[in-house]
Amino acid sequence: MRALATEAVHAGRDDLARQGLHAPPIDLSTTYPSYDSRGEAARIDAFAAHGAPLEGPPVYGRLGNPTVARFETALARLEGTESAVAFASGMAALSAVLLARNAMGLRHVVAVRPLYGCSDHLLTAGLLGTEVTWVDPAGIADALRPDTGLVMVESPANPTLAELDLRALAHACRTVPLLADNTFATPVLQRPVEQGARLVLHSATKYLGGHGDVMAGVVACDEAFARRLRQVRFATGGVLHPLAGYLLLRGLSTLPVRVRAASSNAAELARRLAADPRVARVHYPRLGGAMIAFEVHGDPHELIAGVRLITPAVSLGSVDTLIQHPASISHRIVDAEDRRTSGVSDRLLRLSVGLEDVEDLWRDLDGALGTRRGSGVRRGAVAVSGPQPRPRGPRAAASATAHADQ
Ligand SMILES: *Cc1c(COP(=O)(O)O)cnc(C)c1O
Repeated sequence: MRALATEAVHAGRDDLARQGLHAPPIDLSTTYPSYDSRGEAARIDAFAAHGAPLEGPPVYGRLGNPTVARFETALARLEGTESAVAFASGMAALSAVLLARNAMGLRHVVAVRPLYGCSDHLLTAGLLGTEVTWVDPAGIADALRPDTGLVMVESPANPTLAELDLRALAHACRTVPLLADNTFATPVLQRPVEQGARLVLHSATKYLGGHGDVMAGVVACDEAFARRLRQVRFATGGVLHPLAGYLLLRGLSTLPVRVRAASSNAAELARRLAADPRVARVHYPRLGGAMIAFEVHGDPHELIAGVRLITPAVSLGSVDTLIQHPASISHRIVDAEDRRTSGVSDRLLRLSVGLEDVEDLWRDLDGALGTRRGSGVRRGAVAVSGPQPRPRGPRAAASATAHADQ
């Protein structure tokens, strides 16, 4: 087997040299010519019955696309699974998993908080007809029922970076498939199937794309489950655009390098934040990674309003550093009490560390952390070089929001 760094640049591209190509082609066709209707009927029957990838030329964009298939092949190799099925977003990917289980009469889901805010919402609201039981990791085995179709976890979790022992959880799940959302770790740091997870979910919008310009989701799993997911994708239409497939394949080629470089920045920033008296708590995974969660003694909204180099925005996993306040944005849709009991305090900030120079990042954070005495003099502010600082939001408005939230 080839090493991860090699797979990252070669998987899904093995046929290119034979075709006289170097960059993968982008196939934007929605439909494909065929003079053999009898043959097409047989192929469509086979796909409808089994969800197996189409043999021969493509038929219609919703059944499969060659450029997207390259990304699926590559991601499956990186995660160490037989197959992968790509979708229009991470939420479309999770929806397909839930619908596939529902269709088998397995509508009960056991899940561990925290999860990404919208995943929590999708399960809690039962929008797809599922019923969820929220448990601590130790409560999984007792929560299983005959109609339990899925156990869902994230590790490290969004946004607290809480880590779970996936091997122990997979054991507790018995025959029920364990879905691990691996968006934060990526296959560079963790391959959940090696620890017994049957399904690996990614918001490919984050690290896999890696440049903040593609929205996508993918499930890596065995071929039997992939067939069900392809059938759901075909029937419900949450397909990935071929251009997005191309950009994701390109993103994968630098994934190991990006994740390692951003993680080394993040480890250093986590160390400095933990040593800083203005910071109350820092959560940084044992596994490493490029995400940091931290709580400040002061007003988290002030910090968000004070960054200049770092972009205050939701999402993560891009080449540049982003910061956001989960209780206001990414996890706003989760009930306030459920948020707090799962560790998402109103003081928590989530930082997605990018590839900038670590000293520039620290200077920005240091300035935005301000002084605890609130003198208005922000340490480091004069040291920021380069373009004009962005105008800061009105302080009074930011404080008012903070108080309203308490
Ligand atoms: C963003 C995110 C999702 C949802 O993915 P989208 O691509 O935004 O639909 C799911 N899980 C995690 C951990 C995420 O961070």
